Amino acid sequence: MERIELHVRDEKVDVYQVHADGVLWPCPECGNKLPAYDHKDERVWRHLDTMAFQTGVRARPPRVECPDHGVRPAGVPWAESNSRFTKFFERFAIDVAQETDPKGAGKILKLSWDEVWGVQERAVARGLRAKPPVALRFMGVDEKAVGHGHQYATIVYNLEEGTGEWVGEGRKKETLDGFFQGLTTEQRAGIEAGGLDMWGPFIASIREHVPGAEGKLVYDPFHIVGHMNEAGNDVRKREHRQLSEEGRSPLGGTRFWWLYGRENLPERHREGFAALHAAHLKTGRAYAIKEALRDLRVQDSSKTGAAYWRWWRFWATHSRLAPVIRVAQMMKAHLDGGLNYFAHRIANAVAEGLNSKIATLQKLVYGFRNKDHFRTAVLFRCGGLQLHPVTHPIPG
Ligand SMILES: [Zn+2]
Repeated sequence: MERIELHVRDEKVDVYQVHADGVLWPCPECGNKLPAYDHKDERVWRHLDTMAFQTGVRARPPRVECPDHGVRPAGVPWAESNSRFTKFFERFAIDVAQETDPKGAGKILKLSWDEVWGVQERAVARGLRAKPPVALRFMGVDEKAVGHGHQYATIVYNLEEGTGEWVGEGRKKETLDGFFQGLTTEQRAGIEAGGLDMWGPFIASIREHVPGAEGKLVYDPFHIVGHMNEAGNDVRKREHRQLSEEGRSPLGGTRFWWLYGRENLPERHREGFAALHAAHLKTGRAYAIKEALRDLRVQDSSKTGAAYWRWWRFWATHSRLAPVIRVAQMMKAHLDGGLNYFAHRIANAVAEGLNSKIATLQKLVYGFRNKDHFRTAVLFRCGGLQLHPVTHPIPG
């Protein structure tokens, strides 16, 4: 260290770094240790605050003349080559960004939105470089709406690790093909089960790329119940409209009551809900059928599961509720995948947990100005990656 300048009025501290004569620097291409050839203009790297004063490390970074690679910037030990922050600051910024949204992180760190994104993007790139090759046994696949309009992203989960593994643009068969094309034959064969929604393009892609896919496709009860929730909501909307035309509908403002699982309905709605449920509405019938479907997953074998399923299906197809019948028919076409669940039991809770994490990401004001932002956000928050740069004490 050469000197420290304290600027009280600006609440800033500048730390000037110089290096001793004779220090050798690595060529960025080959690591060859070489003496400094010359120095570039002074630069500043944002460091951790000193007593609440914004602190900059200032130095003229050296260049080396490598016999093989010519004159190259040697880089400095306290920062990565493409960053305006020291590694210590970058670590801190990563920790803050993980606990808040980019706008909040920017406020706390006094950084712009773009700078916070830069930190996240570098962190994800760093994490992916350090990541060992994929050993994916239990994969989950899901599609998510991103930003405005009809844009989608495909997410591959590692259900064993509880992490987001991969994010691709769109939700076509080719999208998921892109993931499998990045795996070796052994890696694809190593997939023991794939949990997914009954989404044709993904099913086709898994069939094409995963050996023995028929016994490995698992239609997650979580998704199936999601379809029943949609069907129930259609029934409610229709009934609400009809009752409103006839006079007065008790269904107004009750949309979310029916989406809860029985045990999760908030206390304050219980009385009103019980009264409605007792009123023999079509909506109540659809709800009961949905709740019964939720119990499919607690059956203890594919045998009892199949029996339960036959019973449920009979009820659903005789409900005289068109949206409910449609779900029952869709499940019939995919029954094997529904029953594979009992053979694999892939971590349903993990899939649900990841799903709600991603839903939060979708809601946060991420301003997904491009789809890469969504990918970065998923891998940053849920990727299980080693995001931090390796830090060393600043020499001097
Ligand atoms: Zn070199």
